[in-house]
Amino acid sequence: MIKGLESIKKWIAVLFMLIFCGFSWAQATGAGEVDEKDVPIKVTEVAPGLYFQYHHQESNNAWLVTSEGVLVIDTRQHPKRAEELLVAIRKTTDKPIRWVINTHAHGDHYFGNTVFKREGALFIAHRDTAGMMQHHFGLEMKRRQGYFKQMQFDGKAVQLVLPDITFDSSMTLNVGGRIVEILYMGAGQNPGDTFVRFPKERVFFAGGPFSKESWPNPSFTPSIAGWVSILETIAKMDVDIYLGGHGDIGNKADVLHEAKMLQDFDQGMRAAFAKGMSKDEIIRNIKFESYSHIRNYYRMNLFISSYYHLLTTGRAENAYP
Ligand SMILES: [Zn+2]
Repeated sequence: MIKGLESIKKWIAVLFMLIFCGFSWAQATGAGEVDEKDVPIKVTEVAPGLYFQYHHQESNNAWLVTSEGVLVIDTRQHPKRAEELLVAIRKTTDKPIRWVINTHAHGDHYFGNTVFKREGALFIAHRDTAGMMQHHFGLEMKRRQGYFKQMQFDGKAVQLVLPDITFDSSMTLNVGGRIVEILYMGAGQNPGDTFVRFPKERVFFAGGPFSKESWPNPSFTPSIAGWVSILETIAKMDVDIYLGGHGDIGNKADVLHEAKMLQDFDQGMRAAFAKGMSKDEIIRNIKFESYSHIRNYYRMNLFISSYYHLLTTGRAENAYP
């Protein structure tokens, strides 16, 4: 009788744990940033007419105001957030929105596209970003349902707006006398990762591959070594200011710090894998604690799990194509 009672108690405990973990999972993967305090949105004019919007809890943007119109980089996580971005842009200019660059195909960076489409913008993205937008749209919507719910945003308001123009390696725009270089250097965090360089201003928007003081999601990369090499290459460029898809304004040291963090993660995972450790053993024993103060560290178990998938199968967990 007592044994039976103990067993029931155990099952209740397990059930409680599952419900509890399920709840935290939904919160953590949906909103993404539930463990963080609310940092106010900050807009900085990093060069004349070139603005950077830093939103700690969600994702970043930049826009360039020229005599011919405005060029916007990335559109945020939902049309409501894109409307807020438009309000911020309108505080700096009343010129028309002419171009939008989508740096990568994660929903938190392009789900606001419809708002800028309505404004009449021409959308530019790398060929693989365009492909990933179509291939992963369902996955991206699924990943963000918790966020929509938490913010009380209507998920159905998000519509897939694909680029009007795609490129393979690079494009240079002369926009009202301002030079904008749109570059592809291979897959970093994602196939199609696009960089936007403002050579005269010595400013570089690094989209997916660089986020200052933030653990990036490794479930899309085909190679962390390739990603590290791209970060090392961009750190050598004639650039002073590095703007990431997440995190505050960065410099060369911040880019190299992320490269080192990813390299340590790669090496730590490879060493554990070579010893024959299972995914669960790695999660239990390898903590990458020297980087535990970095944003998103609480998602480390998911990162290990994703990278383990790449090590065992040779393909990213969220592979494209
Ligand atoms: Zn993001």
